[in-house]
Amino acid sequence: MTTYFSYPEPALREELRRIANAIVAPGKGILAADESVSTMGKRLADINVENTEENRRKYRQLLFTADKTVAENISGVILFHETLYQKADDGTPLVNLIKERGIIPGIKVDKGVVPLMGSEGESTTQGLDDLSQRCAQYKKDGCDFAKWRCVLKIGKNTPSYQGMLENANVLARYASICQMNGLVPIVEPEVLPDGDHDLDRAQKVTETVLAFVYKALNDHHVYLEGTLLKPNMVTAGQSCPKKYTPQEVAKATVVALSRTMPAAVPGVTFLSGGQSEEEASVHLDAINKSTDAKKPWALTFSYGRALQASVLRAWGGKDENVKAGQEQLMMRAKANGNASLGKCEWGSCKGFAGDAGLFIKDHAY
Ligand code: 13P
Repeated sequence: MTTYFSYPEPALREELRRIANAIVAPGKGILAADESVSTMGKRLADINVENTEENRRKYRQLLFTADKTVAENISGVILFHETLYQKADDGTPLVNLIKERGIIPGIKVDKGVVPLMGSEGESTTQGLDDLSQRCAQYKKDGCDFAKWRCVLKIGKNTPSYQGMLENANVLARYASICQMNGLVPIVEPEVLPDGDHDLDRAQKVTETVLAFVYKALNDHHVYLEGTLLKPNMVTAGQSCPKKYTPQEVAKATVVALSRTMPAAVPGVTFLSGGQSEEEASVHLDAINKSTDAKKPWALTFSYGRALQASVLRAWGGKDENVKAGQEQLMMRAKANGNASLGKCEWGSCKGFAGDAGLFIKDHAY
C-alpha cells in the first residue's frame, strides 16, 4: 500500500478554506432552499399552491429579496439547478440578489437516492457521472459550494456495512470532485429519524457512519479544511416512546461528533430533519451551550424545513403576503443565528408554524 498523494495547490486550498470559514462565520448558517421540483411540489401543496415553475420562482424570489440584514444570520443559500438560472420580476438573476446581499450561493449536485440491491431498504445517492463538468459550470455561474445528501436508516439490521461503506465512498468521490473545481463540498450523511430506536442507538449509529465518512474522505485525499459536515443531530427515533430533553440531545450530538469528526473541519451545519422550527432552534442552542465534549468547530444550521415552514404558511402563495413571509424568514434566521452562538431565548421566537412537527416519513429531498 502506498500512501503517496498531493494536496491541492496552495491557492486552491486557500480558496476552499476561505469559503468554508465564511459559511460558518459566528452567528451565521445556511438556508437550504434546494428542494427538487417534486419536493417543492409537496411544500406548495401544503399551502394549496400549484407546483408550476412560475410559483417556484415567485417563492424563491420572496426568499432572496428579504431585507439585506438577513445576511447577519444567513451566510449561504443552497439552490436547486432550476433556481440558479431563474430571474426576479425585474430581470435580475436570482443568484445576483443573493450575492448582492453578501450571501454565498451554493448548489445541490446530487441526483437523488436509488436502492441498494439486497439491502433492507437502504440506498446510495447517484450523480457522479458528469459531476466534474457540472461543478465547473456551477463555479463559473457563481456558486462557491455544493451539497450532496446520502441517507442511512436505522433498523434491526441497518445501516449495514454495505450501506455505510458505499455512502461514505460516494460522498468522498463527490467531495474530491467538488474541490478540484473550486467548490466547497458539504458532506451530508443523514441518519434518518424514522423508527422507534432510542437516543443511545442513534448516537452509536451516527458515530459509526461518521467514522466511515472520515475514513473515506482521507482515502480520497479530501482537503478537510475546505469541507463542511452536514449531519443529523442525534435524536431518538420519531416513534421512540421515551422523550429526551434538549440537553440530552445536545450531549449525544456533541459526544458523537467529538469522537469522529476531525478538528481540521471548520464547521458543522446541521440539517433539521423534520424537527419543528422551535425544536431545531432549541436543540442547536443546547448543542452550543453544551460542555459535554470538546467542540473545536463551529456548530450551526443548514435548515430547509425548519427555516421555511412559517415562511410558506405566512405567504400562502399571495403577493400581498410576501412581506409577511419575509418577516418569518428574518425571525427564524435570527433565532437560529442566536442559537449557533448559544444565545437563543427558548420560547421567545415562535413562528407561524410554531412547534408543528415537520417530520416526513422516509424523507426525500
Ligand atoms: P431539512 O432541514 O428540511 O432536513 O433539509 C435540509 C437539507 O438540505 C436536507 O438535504
